[in-house]
Amino acid sequence: MLRVACASANPHKVAEIFDLMGGVVELIARPSGLIETQETESTLVGNARLKAIAVCRATGLPALADDTGLEVDALNGAPGVMTARFAGVDATDAENRLKMLSELANKPRSARFRTIALLLFTDGREIIAQGVCEGSIATSQRGERGFGYDAIFVPSLGDGRTFAEMSIEEKHLLSHRGLAFRALAKSLEDLPTA
Ligand code: IMP
Repeated sequence: MLRVACASANPHKVAEIFDLMGGVVELIARPSGLIETQETESTLVGNARLKAIAVCRATGLPALADDTGLEVDALNGAPGVMTARFAGVDATDAENRLKMLSELANKPRSARFRTIALLLFTDGREIIAQGVCEGSIATSQRGERGFGYDAIFVPSLGDGRTFAEMSIEEKHLLSHRGLAFRALAKSLEDLPTA
């Protein structure tokens, strides 16, 4: 099995990525001393690439990164690449959720999560996959599970529950990250072996 270093520093995302990719590659945790990569690019692909490059250089292993944005139609696609910083540079998940609820008062609530999953090999080759989950922003927070915006995001293909009201297996089936990493795993399977 290919040994790959996980580039994410977010423990919630790391848990999901290990769940989704654990059987596909041999995942190694991101080195604990490595400083967090600043997401300075203007696209999800650019930021995923920055995270992967840092971890690939530090470990000498292929690196697996993801970057996610929430696109809200009533906000013209924002916050997008700024999703983590929606309520300010050091905003907490709770602050971001509250800002989203207040911004959308009396507005249409359609939205989508988009994840870019990127596997960078040590020779510079990349596999990039995308997962998009259509849905809507709930009118109040519901559920105790998950992280980030999970308590206010209702996927269209679900049964009306937010991601935070679902088990992790249910979330993986519908989520942007589940879709992106399953697509990446398929591309990896199809890769001609040298
Ligand atoms: P990043 O991909 O770590 O840059 O995440 C961007 C923002 O999206 C952060 O505020 C995360 O908390 C949020 N986020 C990423 N993935 C999810 C998810 O699966 N559910 C809810 N929020 C998420």
